[in-house]
Amino acid sequence: MSDDRLFHRIDDARDDLIALTRELIAIPTLNPPGKNYAAICDALDARLSRAGFATTWVRAEGAPGDSDRYPRWNLIARHDGTRAGPCVHFNSHTDVVEVGHGWTRDPFNAPVEGDKIYGRGACDMKGGLAASIIAAEAFITEHPDYAGAIEISGTADEESGGYGGVAHLAEQGWFDPSRVQHVIIPEPLNKDRICLGHRGGWWAEIETRGEIAHGSMPFLGDCAVRHMGAVLQAFEDTLYPAMAARWTDMPVVPEGARQSTMNINSIHGGQPEQEADYTGLPAHCVPDSCRIVIDRRFLMEEPIEAVRQEVIDLLDDLKSRRANFDYEIREINRVIPSMTDRDAPVVTTVHDAIRHVLGQDPTYVASPGSYDQKHIDRIGKLKNCIAYGPGVLELAHKPDEWIGITDMLDSAKVMARSLETLLLP
Ligand SMILES: [Zn+2]
Repeated sequence: MSDDRLFHRIDDARDDLIALTRELIAIPTLNPPGKNYAAICDALDARLSRAGFATTWVRAEGAPGDSDRYPRWNLIARHDGTRAGPCVHFNSHTDVVEVGHGWTRDPFNAPVEGDKIYGRGACDMKGGLAASIIAAEAFITEHPDYAGAIEISGTADEESGGYGGVAHLAEQGWFDPSRVQHVIIPEPLNKDRICLGHRGGWWAEIETRGEIAHGSMPFLGDCAVRHMGAVLQAFEDTLYPAMAARWTDMPVVPEGARQSTMNINSIHGGQPEQEADYTGLPAHCVPDSCRIVIDRRFLMEEPIEAVRQEVIDLLDDLKSRRANFDYEIREINRVIPSMTDRDAPVVTTVHDAIRHVLGQDPTYVASPGSYDQKHIDRIGKLKNCIAYGPGVLELAHKPDEWIGITDMLDSAKVMARSLETLLLP
């Protein structure tokens, strides 16, 4: 293996890596609504075509959010070696979340200060995308006669569930194990950590019903908000203690997410809130409807049907003992947990590469929230998939988000070294 030359190539590409990262950050691919996907695919197409990749554009027509105004464009670039062999795929999402408040830098001008590049999407995950491109280019230049293929994809909508991106590509067979064998997703998990998967999620809306009446005579109606209060109390008394007692063997970080968790995402009952400049007083009514949205995150050890049934049993129990209580529940979305084995080939390969480049053993982690691995696993049926990339996870979605240049270079070396292991027989 020609480590020295390969790693020197990556070090020499430092200015190029900075310029590429800044170019990608400068395209404001805000999602929602899903802006500028075509523009970022154009930039990736130009860059990767120049490096000898064949590119394919795929629009996720009909996916949630896809419209002529905001088309869900995805780009897949493929470079074939000179001989048959496995295909290693680097998948990065191109979308970024809203800017939000609190920035002290221009989020799309991508200023470089010392070892950091600032900007929305710098760490999540345009820095990781740029690092994978630099890694692949350096590997191809160093080893033009390699076996197999390298793919790099830039995909839409990860921040809103991935249905206009990886889910769509997986449905079309792009992640079929017969054509792709190893997948690395350069999400910002830190350069010395391998992310094996993520917890599951179950989202549902619960509505309690009542009966409208004059607020001065609430006994003539039935208050839906009080019924919802009983639901929340039952959650406190029964569900939260039960969830807190469940711990996973998944290496989820941070530690608090090794338990089952549930967030009450929203609550609404009674009259709609008025505009801030409305000066009138509320009408006196007993609310006849109250709705909450729950965001239940669950563990590998919990079957999704049990997660769902636990909530329904609690509501049915209330119905049996609380006068006039009734409810409706509507599932909004579900994500099954995903976990790649520690002895999967992509895991052991990246493990050894991290040890080689950084001189230390990696930490295995799992993500509290989900990312596009779920679609590669469940729709693509491809299990040999991890998230590995530069960046500090806690900076994602925050103001003054940044990516470390040294971290990008180091993780590019880990990626390039992994390509050597997998594609040089
Ligand atoms: Zn991300």
